[in-house]
Amino acid sequence: MHELSLVEGILAIVREEMAKHGLKRLIRVRVKHGELSAVVPEALETAFEVLTVGTDLAGACLEPEMVPLRVRCRQCGEEFSPSENERFLMPCPACGTELGHHVLSGRELYIDHIEAE
Ligand SMILES: [Zn+2]
Repeated sequence: MHELSLVEGILAIVREEMAKHGLKRLIRVRVKHGELSAVVPEALETAFEVLTVGTDLAGACLEPEMVPLRVRCRQCGEEFSPSENERFLMPCPACGTELGHHVLSGRELYIDHIEAE
């Protein structure tokens, strides 16, 4: 499961940020993950628990927040969010073009917010 190494990376950044600001106790970390980033939110939470239990960060929680997929039609410029069963062919609601759309959001994976004291 790649979530474990993802969370390791997240924790390294969190620790760095906390040290920079002299914070001692982590409360929560909000992570935004795009619909296309293939992150399983439950696995992310489990990995976070596994990696923080028994450490100085124990008791904190990770909040995954999904960013929906949004694309712009390469033909007519229409912006739309394909439904879940339209991952491979994404018919444009305006002109019907199915391929080659520009992905506006849905691939991202980043720490949105760190709450600590
Ligand atoms: Zn179109």
